[in-house]
Amino acid sequence: MSAYADRLEALASEAADRCTECGKCFEVCPTAREVGMDAGEAKTRVGELIALTRQAAAAAEGLQKWLNACDGSAQCTAACPEDINVRQWITIAKMKAVEAVRPLETSAGAAANRFRHMAQAVRLLASMQLPSETLKKILAPAEKRTADVIFYTGCNVLRTPHIVLNVMDILDGLQLDFDVVGGTAHCCGVYQFQEADLPTYEKIGHRTFNRLGQSGASQVLTWCPTCTKNFDELEKDVAAPSFGLDHVSEFLAANLDTLKSHFVDQPKRRVVIHEHQGIGATLDSMRKLLRAVPNLELVELPQDSGFSYACGGQAAKFKDRERAIHRGLAEAAVAAGADTIVTMYHSCHRALSGAEAIYPLRVVNFTDVIAEAMGRGGHPDYYRLYKTGGPMDEAVEAARTFLQDNGVKVDEASVKSLTADIFDETGLAGPRDAFRDAFTELARQS
Ligand code: SF4
Ligand code: SF4
Repeated sequence: MSAYADRLEALASEAADRCTECGKCFEVCPTAREVGMDAGEAKTRVGELIALTRQAAAAAEGLQKWLNACDGSAQCTAACPEDINVRQWITIAKMKAVEAVRPLETSAGAAANRFRHMAQAVRLLASMQLPSETLKKILAPAEKRTADVIFYTGCNVLRTPHIVLNVMDILDGLQLDFDVVGGTAHCCGVYQFQEADLPTYEKIGHRTFNRLGQSGASQVLTWCPTCTKNFDELEKDVAAPSFGLDHVSEFLAANLDTLKSHFVDQPKRRVVIHEHQGIGATLDSMRKLLRAVPNLELVELPQDSGFSYACGGQAAKFKDRERAIHRGLAEAAVAAGADTIVTMYHSCHRALSGAEAIYPLRVVNFTDVIAEAMGRGGHPDYYRLYKTGGPMDEAVEAARTFLQDNGVKVDEASVKSLTADIFDETGLAGPRDAFRDAFTELARQS
């Protein structure tokens, strides 16, 4: 067993030793209820979790059902009276449960497939929306960077790269010495960990974290909620890093006074945040940031914000619940007289940006609002154009130029696969034909 794997075992054992078996974590778990598990089973399930932690064996049937249902919401951690990071414990337990019943080779194959699919989609979508100079800047090796602050994007936000450009604008506006690092060569290793391929995880996610440290940066700003969660729970707690770690929103909220000094007059807006709890102080930070924007009124609505820490990902297995959350939010926003939904993360942005095709609402990311409040931003959100299904001329012309600049060609098969990628995700969207037809034509011409 590697030193890293040993340390994970120790973290889980510490949790099991401290646990009083009160059962509160299971009682509040939203996904256990979603799959029909009764809160009255709490003590039994926690007992099984402790047993799994103490021995390398398959999980008991009830526990396995709980582990399978978990989407990482962190409601369990918030409820634990002993301050145990239960989500971290459950994450490690999930991996151990898979390790006990599946050969490593099978796990490695499953992880590699998921990684390959994600990498292909990210590469194409980024090449369709970003100039090669910016893409090269993002993809350059982390350990060769020299700035004091690293803005770490992760992989998947490159599907909606205007968000990355917004954050870069904001950090530029703050006159910060920063580098931007991301792309699949700097993956956080989520698929390898989830599929229990720990040896490869160490070469990907664990290595990425170490490479960030090798740059000598004093501060790493994360973007992706999954990377943030993984770095916090599977890296920072395993070995203390040489750098500070914050989500971009937390860093901006901590520098709000400086940020505000750059704000310029803004149009009147009534906005609703599509909320998720579970990733540090990100929600509170975004609320704080948006409340400071001139002429912006934040409309508070009751929301199902504790169900998952972000849209998609592990929550994607609950399609009906995600659908109800998206529709419920858009309808409540319209009823409350809001004109804008503000998304927190990129996966939520992908899920909700198509709402514009259905409801009288704008959908923007919080970084759009902050960058524009600083007189910057305004980067085209091509993904939203794809998703709303309206005229594609602007998106296709931009893609034609960027693809040429990046030396990337699309063929009809990749357009088919991208169409499924974009429109099969749970979320709100216009018709898929507009994207599929326009980009198939682009592929035929290239
Ligand atoms: S992280 Fe959320 S979904 Fe997972 S066990 Fe904890 S409460 Fe349940
Ligand atoms: S809430 Fe905390 S102490 Fe109670 S059973 Fe869960 S992990 Fe153990």
